[in-house]
Amino acid sequence: MSVPTIFFPGDQLISMGLKLSDQVHYQSEPEELVEDTLRLDQGILNDTGALVIETGEFTGRSPKDKFIVQDEISEGAVHWNEFNLPIHEEYFFAVKKQITDYLSERPEIWVRDAFACADPRYRMAIRVVNEHPAINLFAYNMFIRPTEEELENFEPEWTILSAPGLKLDPVVSGTRQHNAAIISFKYKTVLIAGTGYTGETKKGIFTVLNFILPKDHNVLSMHCSANMGEQGDTALFFGLSGTGKTTLSADPARRLIGDDEHGWSDTTIFNFEGGCYAKCINLSEEKEPQIFSAIRPGALVENTRFYPGTRTINFDDGSITENTRVSYPLDYISNALEPSVGPAPKNIFFLTCDAYGVLPPISRLSPEQAMYQFISGYTAKVAGTEAGVTEPKATFSACFGAPFIPLHPALYAEMLGEKLRSGEVNVWMVNTGWTGGPYGIGNRIKLGYTRAMISAALDGSLDAVETVVHPVFGMKMPVRCAGVPSELLDPRKTWADPAAYDEKAEELAKRFINNFKKYEAGTPASILAAGPKLRF
Ligand code: ATP
Ligand code: MN
Repeated sequence: MSVPTIFFPGDQLISMGLKLSDQVHYQSEPEELVEDTLRLDQGILNDTGALVIETGEFTGRSPKDKFIVQDEISEGAVHWNEFNLPIHEEYFFAVKKQITDYLSERPEIWVRDAFACADPRYRMAIRVVNEHPAINLFAYNMFIRPTEEELENFEPEWTILSAPGLKLDPVVSGTRQHNAAIISFKYKTVLIAGTGYTGETKKGIFTVLNFILPKDHNVLSMHCSANMGEQGDTALFFGLSGTGKTTLSADPARRLIGDDEHGWSDTTIFNFEGGCYAKCINLSEEKEPQIFSAIRPGALVENTRFYPGTRTINFDDGSITENTRVSYPLDYISNALEPSVGPAPKNIFFLTCDAYGVLPPISRLSPEQAMYQFISGYTAKVAGTEAGVTEPKATFSACFGAPFIPLHPALYAEMLGEKLRSGEVNVWMVNTGWTGGPYGIGNRIKLGYTRAMISAALDGSLDAVETVVHPVFGMKMPVRCAGVPSELLDPRKTWADPAAYDEKAEELAKRFINNFKKYEAGTPASILAAGPKLRF
């Protein structure tokens, strides 16, 4: 057991309701957390020295069990909906008591102080208290690591209490079931119980920042990745889960700012986090060399399996979950920018994984089309592959991040609109999904082609290329792009049956239009007019 250091915040922990014994590991180094995990039989090292764990019952977030305490701060400000579920303050106290009692009874717990927000003007001090050393390692990897001096006078502003092994009683807890993540803006606390999925920790703080930054600091918070070119030109990549934020922002020719959560202030783009959380399914050294080589000592791999009889991870094995993950500090990517702060962007990409195979692989959006697409937040997953159902399922998620935005989507959209109007920024839509037909007929577009199209947009070589307007969706499709066969650039030409394409495009357009109905009332006519047009 590690001896508490001189900075050990004993009084503060007691005031949080934790009994204090020699049970507390404070600010452990990653090597110690790995040792603790191995000693407790909660993980195994793979053959490249990364720690591999299983997260148990939950291998993804549980949006139906995420609550915000309804109080005088949140009541009139939060956009209450299926992602922002209200819970009464008395239940917050009931759950907090259960968690602190539970953690007090553990033989060991792990406490870590860290920061969010790389721009010092917005830096937030966070204390994480964990039942499991591996989730404390996740916090080490994903939040911004303080220096020794910064630790000396560390005043935590927000606290995360995480007790995966505690099963809540829903009746006394006011929750849907035995697990919950509960945010209190008044007590600046995130409670996590009953789930060992590490992502709840990062997305809890993301939700908090998505509330505070736009409301109190006029900073646009965004679910996007970001990187910077040699000329200091920043690019943002928005997109829902699985559309390519992490994959495409890891680019050896550019400096990585971050892979998932950023703020856009008056002058800067800044990362909220200190690490990346990459998907591992089908990971290969050849296609994603930077992420592959990040799987080394200190990295935390979740829910993968080994090839039988080895410690070699089989990245193609999705038998625990398709959502296999690895977290690692930003500097595991060789060209990461530190501190992760860049100038306002020159290019913005909206990534969508369109399993219908309708949207062009790259296209340029007008500012109005950009607003329409941002509010829509479209992607299409392939639903229910296990059961043999191969129909794509359209998802519309406002601002490409509805589960994490506590305020009304129009607020973020207005802030983005203002920034688009005030600067010279190109907005592109990139379909990282299907080409040559929908899922089942066509194929996912090759990662190499997507990378080539993004490079061409970034280096300005698409600017001079002739474009054609998509007949239904209205975006401008370049007719040529270096490194990409020209026939791929117009999706209709990739389908064996153009009439089938037209029908599918019409079907998708209808979904967009139906989804947008709920925003019609408050949206300017110019943005409404930038949506798809039905032809029949
Ligand atoms: P999350 O928000 O869940 O972190 P994400 O947007 O970061 O999701 P990625 O982790 O980058 O998504 O996942 C994209 C996945 O799709 C990767 O596994 C990548 O290998 C795969 N992929 C296949 N083809 C492409 C393509 N053409 N462009 C981007 N990604 C692709
Ligand atoms: Mn990602």
